[in-house]
Amino acid sequence: MKESNLKKTSMLYEGKAKIVHETDKEEFLIQEFKDDATALDGKKKGKIKNKGVYNNQISAHLFSYLESYHVVTHFVGPYSDNSMVIKRLDMIPIEVVMRNIATGSLVKRYGVKEGTELEHPILEFYLKDDAKHDPLINEDHVLAFGHASEDEIKQIKRFAQKINAVLKSYFHRRNMYLVDFKVEFGRGKSGQIKLGDEISPDTCRFWDTESGAKLDKDRFRHDLGNVEEAYAEVYKRVFK
Ligand code: UDP
Repeated sequence: MKESNLKKTSMLYEGKAKIVHETDKEEFLIQEFKDDATALDGKKKGKIKNKGVYNNQISAHLFSYLESYHVVTHFVGPYSDNSMVIKRLDMIPIEVVMRNIATGSLVKRYGVKEGTELEHPILEFYLKDDAKHDPLINEDHVLAFGHASEDEIKQIKRFAQKINAVLKSYFHRRNMYLVDFKVEFGRGKSGQIKLGDEISPDTCRFWDTESGAKLDKDRFRHDLGNVEEAYAEVYKRVFK
């Protein structure tokens, strides 16, 4: 199939940073990345110039790279500068966060010193529920609420740990620490667990290994300036 021959039909869903469209083929969707950015539980809104293009292409590249390590993803192929063809998944409403270095809510919640390298990466589950502010939950909540089976949770954890190991060294070779990131999973047609959503500076924290500079959405969250430049820099290092 040539992905660009697919026809966009109706809109399936519009989120804060992406729009998902139906296509003329039932099993395929088009995921479009917007320049819109939100933070602080939706209270801060703005635009980051060219973010849609950068995030689409960075995500596409990382999905393909992860596939070469046998992480199954929803990525099918590029569609336009700011959109990609993906497989339709039945999404699991859980955010899986992996952490290598302490920052953000880990520091706030547990008092770990900012910047501490974690000897063992931490995997966390958050329930995707804006009205409840995405509460932190554990495996038993996921199971008890019927969001995933024991085997599915095992597979999600395996994938998250593999993604972390693969991307940590990938970004280290490009002079960035992969501080933490968030991923989301869903079920494909056969029920198989696949990585969905995106992997980009919107969903990862990257710190430059030399200067410590933040190269991700924290620049927008905390008004650090040079926001577009940070996305452009990650793009440049990914495609160097
Ligand atoms: N993250 C995300 N979406 C969310 C919450 C977190 O992509 O809704 C990512 C975030 O970019 C970071 C990691 O998950 O890479 C951990 O975020 P944390 O919980 O520390 O977020 P904070 O509370 O500091 O915003």
